[in-house]
Amino acid sequence: MEAFSQGQYMKAVEESTMAETISKVLYPADNHHEGKLLRLTQQYFLCSAALQNIIKRHLFKYKSIENLPDLVAIHINDTHPALCIPELMRILVDEHHVDWEKAWDITLRTVSYTNHTVLPEALECWDEQLFRFKLPRIYSIIREINRRFCADAWNAFTGDWDKISRMAILNAGQVRMANLSVVGSHTVNGVSALHSDILKKNLFKDYADMYPQRFTNVTNGIAHRKWLCYSNPRLASLLDETIGDAYRRDAEQLSRFAAFADDKGVLDALDAIKKRNKADFSDYIRRTQGIIVDPSTVFDVQAKRLHEYKRQLMNAINIISLYQKLLADPNADITPTTFIFAAKAAPGYYAAKDIIRLICYLGAEIDKNPVISKKLKVVFLENYNVTLAENLMPAAEISEQISLAGKEASGTGNMKFMINGALTIGTLDGANVEIAERVGGENIFIFGHTAPEVEELWHKGYASSVYYNRSETLKLAVDRLQAGFNGRSFAEIADYLLYSHGVSDPFMCLADFDFYQDARKKAYAAYSDRSRWNRMSLMNIANAGFFAADRSVSEYAKNIWHASPVSEEE
Ligand SMILES: *Cc1c(COP(=O)(O)O)cnc(C)c1O
Repeated sequence: MEAFSQGQYMKAVEESTMAETISKVLYPADNHHEGKLLRLTQQYFLCSAALQNIIKRHLFKYKSIENLPDLVAIHINDTHPALCIPELMRILVDEHHVDWEKAWDITLRTVSYTNHTVLPEALECWDEQLFRFKLPRIYSIIREINRRFCADAWNAFTGDWDKISRMAILNAGQVRMANLSVVGSHTVNGVSALHSDILKKNLFKDYADMYPQRFTNVTNGIAHRKWLCYSNPRLASLLDETIGDAYRRDAEQLSRFAAFADDKGVLDALDAIKKRNKADFSDYIRRTQGIIVDPSTVFDVQAKRLHEYKRQLMNAINIISLYQKLLADPNADITPTTFIFAAKAAPGYYAAKDIIRLICYLGAEIDKNPVISKKLKVVFLENYNVTLAENLMPAAEISEQISLAGKEASGTGNMKFMINGALTIGTLDGANVEIAERVGGENIFIFGHTAPEVEELWHKGYASSVYYNRSETLKLAVDRLQAGFNGRSFAEIADYLLYSHGVSDPFMCLADFDFYQDARKKAYAAYSDRSRWNRMSLMNIANAGFFAADRSVSEYAKNIWHASPVSEEE
């Protein structure tokens, strides 16, 4: 205002514009670290604001900072708010004059951390000089946390410099936020049993050696009142009629639906609901995106952020091979299928955008063939968001959960599909493992290398060309990328799979391809037997209760935050 009053309009506007940028944009990348200074500024702004608020309210009510860990839990949800740790130390030491040891004890007993990914490109690291320039006091506090931690680590693993430098927060000119989060938290968890296990055995192995008690698991869940009751009212009504409405509050009650697994009336009702949901969804995408699909075909769906590790490309290569089969023999016995992709790619993620382009061009070429397009349709739905997902999940029949084993921390899309009665074709990755355990091997189509087998394959030296040369179908499909679709070559994708300068096929699409096709064949055989399929679908719904967010949240409250529920009268 002062600048404004003095007639320096531009300067006044510039300052307020700069201030607004702090909370203006949310970086849209997923599982990828953007090392931009604005992002660091945003993280610090939000951490500092939240912590100042928490401490002010705590002191107003309880007068003392000493009991903060008993009454407050601060949870670091992924590393994005990891600056909470040094910021809490700053407030305690600088503003409340608590000595370092006491402040560290309070911080460690207050803060806990959930890791959400093991992908190296997503682990937040900041350039140390940039960080020091932007946040000098926070930097000096991190240095002291790091100095003391390294001294402790030296006591635990004297002489093992490699281990200590792997664990250090500051290393090679970087500030490593995952390391800071583990060092400053009383509890660290992954988001599925497999992922939590991988944290202990790989990513955080050194810390697990030092602090074995610190590590635990909380398998993710979904809001079942949103993804079932609200999104799929027809299915919710059938459940109300068969098992009563108690499952709406207590998702575990869904298990009572299993008693209807051989009830022809209920199975037919389930079938009819899926048909009507498919018709509704077809109308919805015609209205909103001008896309026309035939609701009498199988809805085979892969809906999730576009990422190499999620392997939308492996799905596309299978579609290419189906297309080639129909080109060779238009009468080939193929169940008419609509392949539905829905995804967003991060801006600047070139490989992801090239895969989207491939799917769109492949779909366009198939559309031009009047015979083949009766059996095969490929659609790419733009702007994949929660509203689209709410419409899509109730209509899905096949759920594609085909990430390379060891890469998907949990997945939640897998749970949304399951609770809406879709059957999963999936790898033993993330929460798929627990879905398979609960639903039973006969009600899911599991395939592919397991996480330890993937490790072993890298160790032996993975050559994608071995798989390419071994499988005639795969070879034909990959070769076709050269000529491409609808007038555009996708040679770059073929090169990525076979002739990369670094590692070819880094997410092992080729190694899992034949297994994928086998699992798909089993799924489509099951689909052709309607009563069997409907029974399998029912068993998926009946076993989805564990994956309700209510269960996840109560595990966090009980095991990590030590918070007990309030009664409804309170
Ligand atoms: C559930 C959901 C996701 C996560 O899907 P995954 O398959 O677990 O990766 C992503 N985007 C939207 C819009 C969702 O609803």
